[in-house]
Amino acid sequence: MKSRGLVFLGPPASGKGTQGRRLAEENGLAYLSTGALLRRALRDDTELGKLARPFLDCGEYVPDDVMIPMVLEWLGKQDNGWLLDGFPRTVLQAEALDEALEFTPQAIVLHVPDDELRRRVACRLECEDCHRVAREGEGKQCPKCDGRLAPRADDVSANFENRLSEYRRLVIPTITYYCDLLCARIVNGTGSPDEVYARVRG
Ligand code: AMP
Repeated sequence: MKSRGLVFLGPPASGKGTQGRRLAEENGLAYLSTGALLRRALRDDTELGKLARPFLDCGEYVPDDVMIPMVLEWLGKQDNGWLLDGFPRTVLQAEALDEALEFTPQAIVLHVPDDELRRRVACRLECEDCHRVAREGEGKQCPKCDGRLAPRADDVSANFENRLSEYRRLVIPTITYYCDLLCARIVNGTGSPDEVYARVRG
């Protein structure tokens, strides 16, 4: 696993999916959103979906021993560059990734204040098929694949607050891990998607 990689970290609704997907598309990188993969598994009621449901239903993180092999298996199939959206989310995940890659990938961290996250999540929609993010008022069909746009079940307020506290408990130490290794770039995630993308691209 010697390919070049990027990881995207940030609180829920910080724009990881929107920005990560765009950066991946424009640079020919393979893209994996672990959250989208889990939501698809829930929808299709697969074994993974059955296992992950109790965690997603209450806004908790899925255990490392489920997430790590799943992501390493995906990475094992990548010959070129890749971008991970939403992984790693714990120090253990970050360490396992480094060990498998034999290097530490560059981490892009989107910073958005909590009040702005709450405003965003209240009007966020997601395509049920391709998992692109949209906003209320953008219609009911995904402009990319014609799938149905709907609110995410885990965006209801209580669930969202749990995800935010999981972020503080587990992802902040992961960000510190990347900062200590001088592999983190903190990006201001406020403003329009184009403004944020200009900062992400650097
Ligand atoms: P996201 O779409 O990135 O907001 O992720 C949605 C949910 O999927 C999270 O709140 C977690 O329950 C779960 N999840 C996604 N990625 C991970 C991960 N790396 N580790 C643990 N749980 C995850």
